[in-house]
Amino acid sequence: APPVARSVLDGLDPEQRAAAAAPAGPLLVVAGPGTGKTRTLTRRIAHLVADCGVPAASFLAITFTRRAAEELTERLGGLLGEAAGGITVATFHRLGLLILREQHERAGLSPGFGIADTARQLEVAAAAAGSEQEGKRLLARRDAGEPAEEDAGYERRLRELDLVDFADLVSLPVRLLEADDELAAAYRERWSRISVDEYQDVDEWQYALLRLLTGPDGDITAIGDPDQAVYGFRGADVGFFLRFTTDFTDAATVRLSRNYRSNAAIVDAAVQAIAPASLVPGRELRAVGDFTDPPRIGMHVAADERAEAAFVARSVDRLLGGTSWHSLDSGRVTGDGDGGLSFSDFCVLYRTDAQSEAVMRAFNTAGVPYQKRSHDRLLARPGVRMLADELVHHAQGPLPERVRSAVELLCERHSADEERCADLRTAGELVLPLAAECGADLAEFLSALAMGAEVDALDPRADRVALLTLHAAKGLEFPVVFLVGCDDGLLPFRLPGAAPDGGAEAEERRLFFVGLTRAQHRLYLSRARRRTRRGAAADTAPSAFLDAIDAGLTMPVDEESAARKRPRDRQMRLL
Ligand code: ATP
Ligand code: MG
Repeated sequence: APPVARSVLDGLDPEQRAAAAAPAGPLLVVAGPGTGKTRTLTRRIAHLVADCGVPAASFLAITFTRRAAEELTERLGGLLGEAAGGITVATFHRLGLLILREQHERAGLSPGFGIADTARQLEVAAAAAGSEQEGKRLLARRDAGEPAEEDAGYERRLRELDLVDFADLVSLPVRLLEADDELAAAYRERWSRISVDEYQDVDEWQYALLRLLTGPDGDITAIGDPDQAVYGFRGADVGFFLRFTTDFTDAATVRLSRNYRSNAAIVDAAVQAIAPASLVPGRELRAVGDFTDPPRIGMHVAADERAEAAFVARSVDRLLGGTSWHSLDSGRVTGDGDGGLSFSDFCVLYRTDAQSEAVMRAFNTAGVPYQKRSHDRLLARPGVRMLADELVHHAQGPLPERVRSAVELLCERHSADEERCADLRTAGELVLPLAAECGADLAEFLSALAMGAEVDALDPRADRVALLTLHAAKGLEFPVVFLVGCDDGLLPFRLPGAAPDGGAEAEERRLFFVGLTRAQHRLYLSRARRRTRRGAAADTAPSAFLDAIDAGLTMPVDEESAARKRPRDRQMRLL
């Protein structure tokens, strides 16, 4: 039979297809969780390149994290092959860095200018502001996008040192393009097709940069979900999303409403939970995944956080001990070959990192392997800076090899200092994933480090339960999700003793929405009647967010009796 002609638009539903094939010009895609935003974005670009002959080099695709950029690059490569190489995929900070490297002279920098890490920033800020405390305030103002007059000394000093800081990476390009129309026009011509994923998290400077790069009648596709805007606390403004169609004249809007990720009970509960604070009028989101007989959401009330963590550990154990996807949702079989679950199908979500302590302890006791995504900066870990400085003088070639041999070299030199050697070896392991990502590009590696690359322990191939804060879970999906700590004060989060704050609570509700919508097959919400926070134990009240969820969608789970009845065959399966 002749091969069937396939289009890059195959495999999209009608709404996704409408977004992917929309004519040039400003386009807003309002799409809830699990509706296939990334899929749609990549197909739109691939369609324009492959089917419409738009040169790949005219595309600029912006994402918020390095991981997301990587994934986009990978998917575009899969769809377009070599042609995808011409597309610029970058985070806002990478984009700013790219522009600054090209325009270093205008910015008063040398071609090889550096990026100040947090420690260096504080050093310079403290010197400029007169004291460390004032320096910290100065940096906080800059982080919030509100630099004051007197902060000019800090910037001047940075330039003298041939450095830029994290905030400069976006604000300096904005100032350069604002000051020079011709320069802005040149960039507009180069990147005539711009797309931005997670547009709801854009801040003022990022928006300004987009405006300059897009011009009054440019082509921009903004994709996002206002109800998942959770970075207001660090300056993001969901208002830019809500204003898109007035900001960009003649903008078209496409809505995606089919959720492919989760079963109906999860989708319905999530929609109910966000309703009181939804920023999307008439929000529509319905489950279309292949789930029959939707199971209800498990609700667990524990005596305290230790009991809550023990509940999670026991449930993982129970679900692993003989549940197949067939019995979870008849008709859908995923997971490994025999239809069973593995550790990596589970995820534990929490509002504050401190909550992970109890979970890790329970997992250690129960022998459940886990991995936690840490928000620690790589550069803050002992040995990493030393390793990075050494790498600069180290031979050419692929970075992972250079990292390994630099560790050996340094360890030889410091062989008398066992502790330092151990730090260096650990540092080597920690930076390896980033080194692998950067290939042979040392400048990229060093700027990623300086730009605050985090210790990212989440290896998608490792068979371990993922432990994540709600913020870190954004964009991810897992077959089974435990959202722990559904008590007032944690969700919504308030410092012990603090009064409720309406604006902050709306963002907390959106965070709750993000958490619920990570689950594909099974969702458990748990809370503790009594909880120790900052060393003080106190009785708690249930999260008010739970009230919005229809009781018919949930069922209490007290798995303890069930757990005892199940055979413990997990160890066997692991052998
Ligand atoms: P979030 O807002 O949580 O980031 P999202 O809109 O980016 O969600 P994706 O992660 O892109 O959603 O997609 C969710 C899931 O649905 C993925 O597993 C994806 O493969 C699947 N999916 C998306 N579109 C389709 C489709 N047309 N047919 C089948 N599966 C789809
Ligand atoms: Mg996504």
